[in-house]
Amino acid sequence: MATHREGRPVTKRPPSIEVVAIGDELILGDTIDTNGAWLGQRLGEEGIRVVRRAVVGDDEVSIRLAITDALLRTGVVVCCGGLGPTPDDRTRSVVASLYGWPVEIDEDWVSIIEERFTKRGMTMPLVNRRQAEVPRGAILLPNEIGTAPGLILDRADLGITVLLPGVPRELRWLVEHRVLPWLRPRLPESRSAIHRRVVRTTGLAESAVAERIADVTTDIEPLTLAFLPVGVGIDLRLTSWGDIPDEEAGPLLDAAEARIRERLGRHVYGSAHEDLAEVVGMRLRERGWTVATAESCTGGLVAKRLTDAPGSSDYMLGGVTSYANEIKAGVLGVPEATLVEQGAVSEPAVLAMLDGIVRLMHAHCAIAITGIAGPGGGSADKPVGTVWIAARTPANSRSRRLHLFGSRAEIRDRAAQAALKMLLDLVLTSAQ
Ligand code: ATP
Ligand code: MG
Repeated sequence: MATHREGRPVTKRPPSIEVVAIGDELILGDTIDTNGAWLGQRLGEEGIRVVRRAVVGDDEVSIRLAITDALLRTGVVVCCGGLGPTPDDRTRSVVASLYGWPVEIDEDWVSIIEERFTKRGMTMPLVNRRQAEVPRGAILLPNEIGTAPGLILDRADLGITVLLPGVPRELRWLVEHRVLPWLRPRLPESRSAIHRRVVRTTGLAESAVAERIADVTTDIEPLTLAFLPVGVGIDLRLTSWGDIPDEEAGPLLDAAEARIRERLGRHVYGSAHEDLAEVVGMRLRERGWTVATAESCTGGLVAKRLTDAPGSSDYMLGGVTSYANEIKAGVLGVPEATLVEQGAVSEPAVLAMLDGIVRLMHAHCAIAITGIAGPGGGSADKPVGTVWIAARTPANSRSRRLHLFGSRAEIRDRAAQAALKMLLDLVLTSAQ
């Protein structure tokens, strides 16, 4: 039944379900429960809210308790893992006994699996018959890309249990092709999807981001806002949880996103899964400009990120990893005197690298980086984390000394990010 809040009709809360991931490897940490993460996202898009996730080992008691618990709370549980042919795969038999349904071999499914083995010139191992065990009354979900079918058990007094194999590719296939088509008609018509919006920022610490958007944070309701530090920046994720009708969620998210972008200005570089290098590439392509890189401590990381984007040959010419001083001097033309007197990690050195790579590759734009990524090699006036970055466009150039912290990998990542951001800012301030 519809209720009212602030004079606005609010639809019924979205259907909620729980997820139980089964497997000793998940408990031991050898495998990360990516199935659970994917189910949360995918079902959320359908307006089905995963309200709790449990991870249990391959033992019968834990599996039984986790499923019973979940059914008591929401009446719908999706389980993954433990449907294999080996004796450590117990999910099917535990759930069958919970529902009080005897297990029978589905001979049709056995024939299908047998046929698949025959087609590949093999004989089906006898243990695979186990994967055709179906609790009487359960619905078998044929799996076209694997041998373990999914199963749905639906009993009015207990609730719905969906069993899926652990292999991520098979689980996703079964959800798309079998589970959602079965579930959709059984869900309320009025449900709204969970909508997300991600604003990506770089160059500001989490606390600084929080300060700048403090007033947005306090009246964000009915949306929620999450701060996600991703190492080279802070992602801000806005979520509309599915109790807001789809047609209202869009405008609410638009308004909140606009306020955040306005407060954070040039620190925002993109949205969702856009990489900064991809955004730089798009802006270069618009202007018909090319780019080249000269990198020392980042060892080609910027070049790698620029070329991650398909079609980057439109703007990316190439790069030089000038790790040794002989290469800085011999290939890029950094004067020996600069390297001796100011050192390889200095402003004159980074500017000479920048000039050198532009000359060498005839690029419109360039990035140069030289620094000390550690853990060794630091000194009192140039401690580990000292990095000089420089960037240029046809009209402008800029250089800056960074004081970075963290591990070697983090320093390299942050230096690459800062240099890409420097180029983006220069490109955006240049007339198109
Ligand atoms: P199959 O019948 O295909 O053997 P299964 O149901 O027995 O599947 P498992 O044996 O538990 O599944 O797992 C198969 C593979 O899937 C393993 O490589 C495992 O690490 C991986 N896997 C299992 N559960 C998850 C999960 N929750 N997230 C990501 N990967 C998983
Ligand atoms: Mg397993």
